[in-house]
Amino acid sequence: MCGLLLARAGVDVVVLEKHSDFLRDFRGDTIHPSTLELMYELGILNELLRRKHQEVRELGGQIGNEFVMIADLSHLKTHCKFVALMPQWDFLDFLAIQARRYPAFQLKMDAEVIDLLEEDRRIVGVRANTRDGPLDIRADLIVGADGRHSIVRDKARLHVDEFGAPMDVLWFRISRRPDDGEQTLGRIIKGKMIVMLNRDDYWQCAYLIRKGEFDRIKQTALEAFQAEVVSVVPFLRDRITQLESWDQIKLLTVKVDRLRQWYRPGLLCIGDAAHAMSPIGGVGINLAIQDAVAAANILAQPLAQGSISISDLQRVQRRRELPTRMTQRVQVFIQDRLILRILGTNEDIPVPGAVKLLNHWPFLRRLPARMIGVGFRSEHIQRPKIRTRHVRP
Ligand SMILES: Cc1cc2nc3c(=O)[nH]c(=O)nc-3n(C[C@H](O)[C@H](O)[C@H](O)COP(=O)(O)OP(=O)(O)OC[C@H]3O[C@@H](n4cnc5c(N)ncnc54)[C@H](O)[C@@H]3O)c2cc1C
Repeated sequence: MCGLLLARAGVDVVVLEKHSDFLRDFRGDTIHPSTLELMYELGILNELLRRKHQEVRELGGQIGNEFVMIADLSHLKTHCKFVALMPQWDFLDFLAIQARRYPAFQLKMDAEVIDLLEEDRRIVGVRANTRDGPLDIRADLIVGADGRHSIVRDKARLHVDEFGAPMDVLWFRISRRPDDGEQTLGRIIKGKMIVMLNRDDYWQCAYLIRKGEFDRIKQTALEAFQAEVVSVVPFLRDRITQLESWDQIKLLTVKVDRLRQWYRPGLLCIGDAAHAMSPIGGVGINLAIQDAVAAANILAQPLAQGSISISDLQRVQRRRELPTRMTQRVQVFIQDRLILRILGTNEDIPVPGAVKLLNHWPFLRRLPARMIGVGFRSEHIQRPKIRTRHVRP
């Protein structure tokens, strides 16, 4: 997204992606109203929504035997009053197609960054492994957007504050039938928690476990795990055997952390590379996109003029740090107060008071809708102040 916006502003950009495609199983699938709004501002919303997706307008869940609604997106002041569920690889493919319309944009797949090039304490480029051998790329600015296991942040020796997470996620899919119902739902039953994302012909399931427990779970029979899942989602009983081996169940490790300083001369980290997000609220993609927009808004002009300075990079962190801190604070609060409690018992927990309020007073659901759908500080696409170069049809 940052590459797209910088190229749109006429800045030469090379994006390096270590995989040969974007088809990864371990990404989130949610495109939030604020991200959809950015697509609208770029004039590409309708094209995006022509891709297969599902629209979620209300968020709710089951706690014990009670169904509760917690967020109603219909009052948001955005063009789309829904979360679009779309595999992230479709969304990234879409962004790459849009970005390639700008001659200043280059995307190199199969190019894994393995090191930074440093001269006189300034980052001046990256070293990558590519299909054609090692490649050094020098640039006025390196943007580390390589996720929560970022090699860029490691190599730059940036200080990380870790906030911990009590859970990991097991990620698997099971077929979906039309009579299963539509709703994307979180279920919390007797110390077990699952979130199921409707992907039309299958359910993408995220099953929460206590951190570090996967090895122990794998030592028991697969049938025991199947039975556990069925105890939370009884309607999967007739197809749970689709999970035939542990290979179909991927462990996603959850962590929450944040760089103290997101930059060094010649380098800026954004998205999970600057602040790894918990899956709670499914807001990490949205935050990463907002960082990208803020970075492009602030940096396009100095980059185009070849005058980028450390104070420009400071401005990006100043702009994005507060919404990141606030979002992570809410995530850590929910992890510590709710998730830890759920995973630490075999009994049904009572519906928390705050959730009861949301369930009984529909107008209160606008607040979580705003937090999840839009976040704490929304960014908007700025018209490039420099001349946009010719766009390919
Ligand atoms: C279990 C789990 C579920 C989640 N579910 C959701 C959800 O539903 N919705 C949501 O909004 N958020 C969710 N999140 C959070 C979300 O996944 C992240 O916050 C978001 O993906 C961050 O985006 P990013 O672009 O910064 O990093 P990433 O999405 O991780 O992208 C990093 C990219 O860099 C590439 N890369 C990595 N290393 C290199 C390298 N050395 N060289 C070149 N390329 C490299 C990767 O291949 C990848 O394409 C979830 C997180 C977890 C742990």
